[in-house]
Amino acid sequence: MSFGVVEGTESPIVKELEGHPFGRLTFTGQSWALADVRLLAPMLPSKIVCVGRNYADHAKELGNDVPDEPLLFLKPSTTIIGPNEAISLPPQSQQVEHEAELAVVIGLPGARKVGRAEAEQAIFGYTIANDVTARDLQKKDVQFTRAKSFDSFCPLGPWIETELANVADVEVRCEVNDEVRQLGRTKDMVFDVPTLVSYVSHVMTLLPGDVILTGTPAGVDALRAGDSVTVSIEGIGALTNKVVSYE
Ligand code: ZN
Repeated sequence: MSFGVVEGTESPIVKELEGHPFGRLTFTGQSWALADVRLLAPMLPSKIVCVGRNYADHAKELGNDVPDEPLLFLKPSTTIIGPNEAISLPPQSQQVEHEAELAVVIGLPGARKVGRAEAEQAIFGYTIANDVTARDLQKKDVQFTRAKSFDSFCPLGPWIETELANVADVEVRCEVNDEVRQLGRTKDMVFDVPTLVSYVSHVMTLLPGDVILTGTPAGVDALRAGDSVTVSIEGIGALTNKVVSYE
């Protein structure tokens, strides 16, 4: 198990890294065809910071107002699974839903009290997340911890795009069994990426590898055992996971 750099688009290869991907890269000299590699979640962060109600159409569908400053909550790192791993439906919930989200990955040296203008230097790259949520428990508990924290509730990947051209306006899509459920654009975020990085960094120090989930557009809906759910983001790729009942 190691980090690697994916290169090329026609027949992509993965070049193995020695140690972590931050700062100066050291390659081991080993490489493989991407098709021959099993991709794990691209990062194991110290924390996953999430932003609620960051698209007006999603806030509205749940009957909420758009907040006047970012609404933060956390998911534990034990929620993370990689591409093609299974989202496990917990027996405590009858209503588990998908949330397609752009994920920001923090780089070296981390971020503490950075201004909006410096936020970009704190960002290592972008990946795709599914902020899986037990909606019934979220409503029942009022606060979000239990609803957002079951094991497997944060599919992440398939890789970290370090050269995303225009994060301010890319398509965010969620398909379940090939039916489009969510379709939005990052330009419709209430608080944009630099604002979020700056805001969070004034609350808590962001360490290299930490992940910020930037909220979901409208169309959240139930997942059922046997479903295949794919979140795709323009310029990054696609993240697919199957859904299984609790084991
Ligand atoms: Zn979310």
